[in-house]
Amino acid sequence: MLTTVVFDVDETLVDLRPAVTAGLEVVLAQMRRLTPAAVEVTLADLESDWGAVFGDLAAAPVAEIRRAALARSLERAGLGAHLDEISAMFFARRFALTRPFADTLPALAALRQRWTLGLATNGNSRAERCGLAGEFAFEVYAHCDGVPKKPAPDFYAAVCAAAGADPAKVVHVGDNPAHDVVGAQRAGLRAVWLNRRGERLPTDVLPDAVVTTLTELPSVLADLSGEADLPPFIRRCSGETSRVDV
Ligand SMILES: [Mg+2]
Repeated sequence: MLTTVVFDVDETLVDLRPAVTAGLEVVLAQMRRLTPAAVEVTLADLESDWGAVFGDLAAAPVAEIRRAALARSLERAGLGAHLDEISAMFFARRFALTRPFADTLPALAALRQRWTLGLATNGNSRAERCGLAGEFAFEVYAHCDGVPKKPAPDFYAAVCAAAGADPAKVVHVGDNPAHDVVGAQRAGLRAVWLNRRGERLPTDVLPDAVVTTLTELPSVLADLSGEADLPPFIRRCSGETSRVDV
């Protein structure tokens, strides 16, 4: 019997993109206050700096990746010495604006009537800093207590240990096909893909269910729970509302 639902955070429960953009706008404004050389630097430059450093640092803590990206941005205008002060400005703005999507808190309230709820993230969106304090029975953060990042099996082992539940009793909900769906299923959990933006799923990824809003979760999870004893093929191919179109 399924007992536990664990949620990814960034872009699943919290609307991270506007907060990051606002943080970068603060950085750019401060750079331009500090030197005329920064007038040539654009928001697109700052956004591209994250992508430029991410590949080499993918396994690192997110805060470390962001700091490396900001260092690259500041060097564009000879402002490398201001990294500490400008990093602090970025993170203050980013966390001040990182808030739940409109469907998040109502969905959690509804689900809590029946399920044990958990949070599990690769990022640094801690519940108490993102409007989610007190919402979860357990929280798992990569890089805390030696936990690796998703999609590592040990990440999901840590999730199940925190939940006090076997993998077969846990459903993971998230927006990233590789991390939140494939990683969770390989570790023996069920996986629901949240597709808020109408994106296409790689054809080799087969979530146990797909939703476009968190509002759909109570009924979708009830369906999954009712089918818990069926073989995976039957489970994945039954139910028009939750099947994957691949
Ligand atoms: Mg996410």
